[in-house]
Amino acid sequence: MSCKEIQGLMDPYIDRELDLVRSIELERHMHDCPSCARLHEDRAALRTAIGAGSLRYRAPDTLKKSVQAALVERDRQERAPGRWRWFRLPGPVIAATAAAALLIAIWWVRPVEGALQREVVEGHIRSLMANHLTDVPSTDQHTVKPWFAGKLDFSPTVKDLTAEGFTLVGGRLDYLDNHAVAAIVYQRRQHVINVFVWPTSEGDRGERAAVRQGYNVVWFVRSGMAYWLASDLNPAELRQLAGLLIR
Ligand SMILES: [Zn+2]
Repeated sequence: MSCKEIQGLMDPYIDRELDLVRSIELERHMHDCPSCARLHEDRAALRTAIGAGSLRYRAPDTLKKSVQAALVERDRQERAPGRWRWFRLPGPVIAATAAAALLIAIWWVRPVEGALQREVVEGHIRSLMANHLTDVPSTDQHTVKPWFAGKLDFSPTVKDLTAEGFTLVGGRLDYLDNHAVAAIVYQRRQHVINVFVWPTSEGDRGERAAVRQGYNVVWFVRSGMAYWLASDLNPAELRQLAGLLIR
């Protein structure tokens, strides 16, 4: 890969969104290329500084080593002189090994977050389809917050953000990640936003965003609470709401 390609992949690499084979190729490049290595240091430091640390699962080192070994082997074979041609492993064998390793890697690396993104979006869609958007329809935070009190073993913050253009629509109980969660519903123009909240043992984490089934999802952890927002609202305004929730 060229330096330009490497630099284009730097952000997904730091976010651990790159597949294992490309991650390793990138690491090997950085090992030999001081300017890309420096860029990586800068970006990683910036990422740490803005607090977007990742809790995704990493592939186990043994798996990484075996993919690394497969890549080294592939390089060696590509460079092998012609007279050794008969001695090479057939390409398809190497390709199949790498593919199998990659599949295992995807299975391992596939973050729990991926499953949660799906659950959150499904919860959002369900609330719209089943005509069950709210259990307590109210634009009054002082009605919505106490309503949760008897139904959950935690107390979600319910904010009136009308002045900021996010109208509180009400609250609902939902079930995500194997427990009951608070769904606080806001509306911006014609867009409905579900804000799912539940307690977590994770430390604070900055916002992350994804698109899932055409819906935007933003999530973060603050003060022992996991917040997951899902909507067809554009990502910028969804992030704006995320910021307002913890302001
Ligand atoms: Zn480079």
